[in-house]
Amino acid sequence: CIFCKILAGEIPSTAVYEDDDFKAILDVNPAARGHVIILPKNHAANIYELPDEDASKIMIVAKKIATAIEKAYHCDGVNILQNNGEAAGQTVFHLHVHVIPRFKGDTVNIGWKQGDMPEDLDAICKEIQAQL
Ligand code: 5GP
Ligand code: ZN
Repeated sequence: CIFCKILAGEIPSTAVYEDDDFKAILDVNPAARGHVIILPKNHAANIYELPDEDASKIMIVAKKIATAIEKAYHCDGVNILQNNGEAAGQTVFHLHVHVIPRFKGDTVNIGWKQGDMPEDLDAICKEIQAQL
């Protein structure tokens, strides 16, 4: 796993933050200047495999990085993004959270076409609740 190699120091990276559980590094192919990815030190391929402890802590790290990015770049916004599965745009199968500075009118493309309101909201709700 390429991110495990980065975490082991076998592949170089530029770390902006590190603690016992996570390393936050600059993305090598950034969507914007200051694009950071946060990597848990323990390998989990995706959100389904991520231990609850890392899941809860990673958002605190994302908040820390987003706050620093906002101060550093005076950006108009920040996206916090995490992809699971190829269909969702995941290309490295070691879970990571993206923190991406955003500016009004920038060319970063994170979005979707909004659909019409479903007629069967209750059915959808039950489909998900049945698996909780
Ligand atoms: P994903 O598409 O899986 O959500 O995001 C993977 C991200 O990892 C991409 O934005 C890509 O640019 C970044 N990336 C891939 N390989 C490396 C690498 O070797 N070093 C760093 N710093 N980032 C990488
Ligand atoms: Zn890994």
